[in-house]
Amino acid sequence: MFVGAAGRWCRRIAERREKDAEGGRPVNHCTCRWNSSSVGERIRQYTVGKKIHGFTVNQVTAVPDLFLTAVKLNHDNTGAQYLHIARDDPNNLFSVQFRTTPLNSTGVPHILEHVVLCGSEKYQCRDPFFKMLTRSLATFMNAFTASDYTMYPFSTQNSKDFQNLLSVYLDAAFFPCLRELDFWQEGWRLEHETPDDPGSPLVFKGVVFNEMKGVFANNENLYAQHLQNKLLPDHTYSVISGGDPLHIPKLTWEELKSFHATHYHPSNARFFTYGDLPLEQHLQQIQEEALCKFHNIDPGTSVPIQPRWSEPRECHVTCGPDSLAPDPAKQTTYSVSFLLGDITDSFETFTLSLLSSLLVSGPNSPFYKALIDTRIGTDFSPSVGYDGSTREACFSVGLQGIAEHDIKTVKQIITKIIDEVIENGFEEERIEALLHKVEIQLKHQTTHFGLALATYVATNWNHDGDPVEMLRISEKVARFRQSLKDNPHFLQDKVKQYFKENPHQLALSMSPDVGYLENQTKVEKGKLQEKVNSLSLEERQEIYKKGLELIAAQSTSQDASSLPALEISDIQQTFPLTPVEMSYVEGEVPVQYCSQPTNGIVYFKAFTNLNTLPEELKPYVPLFCNVITRMGCGNLDYRQQDQQIELKTGGMAVSPKILQDNDNLDMYEQGVLFTSLCLDRNLPDMMQLWMDIFNSPRFEDEEHLRVLVMMAAQELANGIPDSGHQYAAVRAGKTLTSAGRLQEMFNGISQVQHMKRIAEKPELLSVLRKLPRIKMHLLNNENMRCSVNATTQVIAEASKEVEKFIRNIPGFGKKKKDKKLIRSNITEKALNPEEAGGEVSAGSGATKKLVFEPTFKACQMKTHFQLPFPVNYVSECVRTVPYMNPDFTKLHVLARLLTAKFLHREIREKGGAYGGGVNLSHSGLFTFYSYRDPNSIDTISAFRRSVDWAKAGKFTQEDIDEAKLSVFSTVDAPVAPSDKGLDRFLYGISDEMKQKRREELFAVDHGGLVGVANKHLTTGHSTWGAAILGPENESIARDPTWVQR
Ligand SMILES: [Zn+2]
Repeated sequence: MFVGAAGRWCRRIAERREKDAEGGRPVNHCTCRWNSSSVGERIRQYTVGKKIHGFTVNQVTAVPDLFLTAVKLNHDNTGAQYLHIARDDPNNLFSVQFRTTPLNSTGVPHILEHVVLCGSEKYQCRDPFFKMLTRSLATFMNAFTASDYTMYPFSTQNSKDFQNLLSVYLDAAFFPCLRELDFWQEGWRLEHETPDDPGSPLVFKGVVFNEMKGVFANNENLYAQHLQNKLLPDHTYSVISGGDPLHIPKLTWEELKSFHATHYHPSNARFFTYGDLPLEQHLQQIQEEALCKFHNIDPGTSVPIQPRWSEPRECHVTCGPDSLAPDPAKQTTYSVSFLLGDITDSFETFTLSLLSSLLVSGPNSPFYKALIDTRIGTDFSPSVGYDGSTREACFSVGLQGIAEHDIKTVKQIITKIIDEVIENGFEEERIEALLHKVEIQLKHQTTHFGLALATYVATNWNHDGDPVEMLRISEKVARFRQSLKDNPHFLQDKVKQYFKENPHQLALSMSPDVGYLENQTKVEKGKLQEKVNSLSLEERQEIYKKGLELIAAQSTSQDASSLPALEISDIQQTFPLTPVEMSYVEGEVPVQYCSQPTNGIVYFKAFTNLNTLPEELKPYVPLFCNVITRMGCGNLDYRQQDQQIELKTGGMAVSPKILQDNDNLDMYEQGVLFTSLCLDRNLPDMMQLWMDIFNSPRFEDEEHLRVLVMMAAQELANGIPDSGHQYAAVRAGKTLTSAGRLQEMFNGISQVQHMKRIAEKPELLSVLRKLPRIKMHLLNNENMRCSVNATTQVIAEASKEVEKFIRNIPGFGKKKKDKKLIRSNITEKALNPEEAGGEVSAGSGATKKLVFEPTFKACQMKTHFQLPFPVNYVSECVRTVPYMNPDFTKLHVLARLLTAKFLHREIREKGGAYGGGVNLSHSGLFTFYSYRDPNSIDTISAFRRSVDWAKAGKFTQEDIDEAKLSVFSTVDAPVAPSDKGLDRFLYGISDEMKQKRREELFAVDHGGLVGVANKHLTTGHSTWGAAILGPENESIARDPTWVQR
C-alpha cells in the first residue's frame, strides 16, 4: 500500500492489492458491525482525567458512523501521545509512529527502520522481525518509512499473540541493538564481489541500497520524488527519506545511532491501538516494558511551514527511457502543482480533497475532458490530484506520455480549465455522486480497518492535528452541504484562492535521456572509485575481514528461543463455517446467496466462461474487460454511464479469471468475473446498469477506445518495476500447465507487449470490431453463475432483482441441446462439491465446464527478458499437485519452511535482494521468486540448494511448527463480508473440504516434508520453468539453455 507523493518504503514486499473499482480512499472501510457488546460497555469506564498506568485520559469520543469509540491519552512522564479505537472487531492492531524528519538523502530513517528490527536488548537473536513471522498468527506485520514519519504496525486476532508481538515491537523500537553488522547488511557496505576472494573487486552492497535502486527504476516514482523535493524545497521534503542510492554510502553507523536516540523517543512517539481487546492491558504493557524507562525531552522534530513563493517556478529533470512505453516518441511528463493549506485543518482538508476529485476524477471531470479526451498524452501524470502526505497538502495535474513540444499546450489547457471552473462551477449531480461515494465507503467493509485508520490519521496526527476530528466524516459532509447552501460559489472561491491566485506553483517536466542509466552507473562507479581509492591497506583488510564476519554471522544458526511464540495448540481445530444457499433461475443459472452483516450494502458477482470464444480473440479479453463498463451502454454514453455508476454504485468491475481445477492440473475454467457493490436501496439501479451492459454495450466511439487503450498500456508498462517478480513467475509457469499458458496471455509480459502493439496502431477500428464478437460469447447467461452477499433482510428482495437480470439478458430461450460446445476438450463437473462423486450428466443441476487438455505436455523453458533495470526479478516454477491432492498441504508447509529457514537468509541477507522466497498457490505451481535482486543466476542456484536442503531433512520439529503456524495465519486470515463464500463460488471449495485440508495441515510431519521434496521437487521427476527480468547479463547470454527476449 502506497500513500504520498513518493510512496512509502516498507520493510517487506507490500501485499499489492487489486486496484479498487472505484479507487476509494482508505479511510472509510469498516470491518464489522457494531453491537453494544462488551467493547462498548468497557470503554465507558474511561472518563476524561482518569489516570491509568502512567497515562491520563484527555478525550473520549463516540463516532457512531464508524461504530467506534476513540480514547485519547497522554503519557504523564514523557508526553507520548496515545489513541485507542475501541471497536467490536477481533482483528486488533497496534502501531507506534515516530516523526522522522531527515535533512539529507542518506536514507537514515529508512535504514534505521530496517536495522531496529534486526535485534534488541531483550530479543538478541538476529532479525526477530522476520523470525516472528513464523512464530505468530499475525494478520499483518510490516514497517513503513514515509516522508516525515516512520511507522511500525502489526495486527492479529489472538490476544496472546498480540502481547507477544507488542513485546517484540516495543523492544525493537526503544531498545534496539543497532549492531554494526546489521547496519552493513540492511544499509550499505563496501565488500568484495565474492566476499571470500580478496582479489575480486570491491562493490557497494546492502538491502536498502538495492531496494531504492529498484524504487527509482520506476519513472513514476522518480517523478513523484522530484515533485515533492522541488515544490517543498526548504526543509525535510527537499530530501529523499528512503535514500538516494548515490547518497546512501555517505551514511555512517554513528549517524544512524544518533538519529535513533533523538527520534525514537517516547516524547516523539504516537501510539495507536485498535480492536476489541481491553485498552488497560495495552497501557500496562507499554508502560512497564518501555515508557517507564524514559523522561520527557524536546525532540525538536517539527516541520516548519514552507515559505511561500512570490511567483511560479519551472523545472526540468531527466529519466531513463522506457522500452515498453506505448509510444516511444512520446515519453515526456509534465504537470503543474500547487501548494495548498495546512493539513491539520481537517475540514479544509476534507473540502480540498473533494474539490480535487471533482477536478480530476472520472470522464466527467473538467481536467479529464480537457487533457485525457484530447489524447495529447497517455494518462495523467503521477501524483495527480490531492496529496495530503506532507505538512501542507498539494494538488497536481498534468499528463504523461506526451511529446516534448506539447508542454506548452498542456500548460495552456490547465490555465484555461481553472478559469472555466471559476466561471461555471460544478454540476450538482457530480457533487451528489461524490458524496454518495463517501457514504458507500463509510459502509463498505474490508479486513484491515484498523490499519486503514492508523494510516489515514498518521500524517495529520504527525503534525499535531487532531486524529479524532478526522474520523467524524458525517459531520464534515453535513458542514460541506451547509457551506454550499450558504455560498453557492463556495467551491469556485476555493479554486480561485488555491489555484488561480496562488503563486506557489511548480511546473515540472521530465523527459527521457538515452544516456541516463549509463550516466547513473558512471556516477555510482565514480563514487565507488573515490571510496576505494581513499582506503588504506589496513582499511582494505578490515573490509575483507568484515565481509567474512558478516557471512559467518549470516550462516550461524540462531537461537531464537528468547522470542515468544504461539504453539500449534493455540490454533483452533475447526473454523467458523460460512453457510450459503443455492437457487437456480429457470432450473439452470445457479445463484449463491450468503447472508452477512454488510452494513446495508449488497455485493453482486457473476462468472461467465470463455469456452466458445475463438482462440484469436482471446488475447483481447483483458482489454474487453477493461473497457466494457467504460464505453457507454443502452441510452447512456460513456460519460453518462460513469455518472450513473458513481451515483448508484460503489463500483462495477470486470476481470479475466482462470480457475484451476481442484483435482487435476490439466483442467481449468476460463472466464470473466463481474464484481459490484451498492447500497441496498440502489440495487434495482445497479442491476439495470448490468442489464444494459449485457444487452446493449456501446462499441462505437473509436476515439474513446483510444483513450482507454493508451491508459491501459501506460499503466501496464509502469507496473513492471513494482511487480517484476509476478511477471517473472507468470512467465516461468507458462510452459508447465495449460492454465499457466493462458495466465501468461492474460496477465504476463505477453499481455503488456500485446497492449503496447495495440496502442501503436494508427487506427483502432479493427480492434473495436472485435469487441462485439467477444461480447456475443461472454455476455450471456448460458454459462453463468452468480453470487450475492447481503444482510438477511435484503436477500429476498435481492433475489428478485438478480432473477430479473438473468431473465433479461441474452441466452435464455435457446434449447439446451442447441448449446453445443465449440471444442471437444470441454469436460463438465458438478459445481457443488456435495454433488460431486456421482456422475453428472450434461445440463443437470449446476455444473462448471472445464477445459481439459489431457495431451498437454509440460516442458522446461528459461526466458530472460532484458529490461533497462538496475536490479533483477527472478522466478522459477515447478509443476506439483492440485489443491485436493494430499501432498498439496505438505508442499504448502514446505514452501513456508524453505522461505523462512533457507531462502530468506540466502537471497535477502547474503544476496542483498529486497525479498525472496517460495509460494504455492491454487495453480499447483511451486513458485520461487526474488524481488529487486542484484543477483540472477546465483539466485536460481539458491532455489536449487533450498530443495537439496529440504531433501536432506536438516530442519527441526520447531521449524515445522513455525511453518505450520505461518500457513495457518493465511488460512485463518479474516475475510470481509463481501468475500465470504467466494472460494466456494469460484472454485467449488466447501467448508468440509477446507476442514479436511485443515486436519491434514495439523498432521504434516518431518517424513512427509522430506517425502514431497523428493517426490515433487527433484529435477527429472518434475518440470521446471524459469524467467528473469533484468539488465543485460553475460553469463545468461553465453548459456544456450536460456531464451533471450
Ligand atoms: Zn525498506
